[in-house]
Amino acid sequence: MKRFIFIFILQIAFVCGLIAQQPQTENIIIVTLDGMRWQEVYKGVDETLMNDSVYNRDAKRMKEKFWADTEQERRKKLFPFLWTTIEKQGQLYGNRKFDNKVDNSNPYWFSYPGYNEIFTGYPDTAVNSNDKIWNKNENVLEFLNKQKGFTGKIAAFATWDVFPYILNEPRSGVYVNADVDTMTFDQPVLQMLNDMQFLTTRPIGVRPDIITYMAAREYLKAYRPRVLYIAFDETDDFAHGGMYDQYIGSAHSQDAMIADIWNTVQALPQYKNKTTLLITVDHGRGDKVKSNWKHHGAKIEDAHEIWLAVMGPDTKPSGEMKEPVQLYQKQIAATIASLLGYNFTANHPVAVPISEINKK
Ligand SMILES: [Zn+2]
Repeated sequence: MKRFIFIFILQIAFVCGLIAQQPQTENIIIVTLDGMRWQEVYKGVDETLMNDSVYNRDAKRMKEKFWADTEQERRKKLFPFLWTTIEKQGQLYGNRKFDNKVDNSNPYWFSYPGYNEIFTGYPDTAVNSNDKIWNKNENVLEFLNKQKGFTGKIAAFATWDVFPYILNEPRSGVYVNADVDTMTFDQPVLQMLNDMQFLTTRPIGVRPDIITYMAAREYLKAYRPRVLYIAFDETDDFAHGGMYDQYIGSAHSQDAMIADIWNTVQALPQYKNKTTLLITVDHGRGDKVKSNWKHHGAKIEDAHEIWLAVMGPDTKPSGEMKEPVQLYQKQIAATIASLLGYNFTANHPVAVPISEINKK
């Protein structure tokens, strides 16, 4: 009898151990802000760029809306959701003032290599072009799409039309809706968004981010994906165009859309307190040479500097991370899988997850 009780207790301890390791995250929402600099995320609008009439047509207006005396106040005006809700409930990495560093591992510091690194966990040096080339590397969305309960429950909405190639839609089986991919859904609201995307003006040559966002949100409400990826693009295009006012305006609007998707999922029982939100970027941009804010790529010395924010039921509410650390973009893929209880493996090496994110 004693021996039986001993084994029984051992079994309970074992089961409890398994339960403790099982994450509470059942769904993930990933958002990327193309080429959004960590400098604005952590310090708010840049005074030099704000006051330079070459880059900003209305310094007075930007000052009224986004300027404040301290970095803390400025960043909160620009990214109110990041610096209220996520700061209280999540973690923000990449403030180099504290040597809290997040970087590209790939040596190129532009979009396709960056998104490849985020989703495959593999900074493949052969991925060195923004051309529409089918990605040979398997990605974490594709890996999840093969797991029980996830098949057909993974969707990506992107403004940039290269995403079907980056995520290799035909091979991965992930639903990717990019630029003006026709939305053939039976939902009237998605049919309206479909009309809008063909009728709207296209200031950056692809559909505006708001249409990408609304399509993603309404798709989530109607079809309930377990993994949803939203890829914004305007910040990068406006920066290349040297339009600081538009770059800042798009960044602020993207923060509002992130707040809106969070409020949307927190109001649905399937997602409420069971969803992790992860926000990051494909690459940084220049800052040391001020005019290089427009540019990125291997010739811009600081364009590998990126950032990452995360919030969810498995992430400690540590707020702004101030410990010296070196993290890499290639760790994000395995982090996404680990939050859902999986160990991401692929047809190439995969970097380890960021353990601090999944340690509650
Ligand atoms: Zn770019």
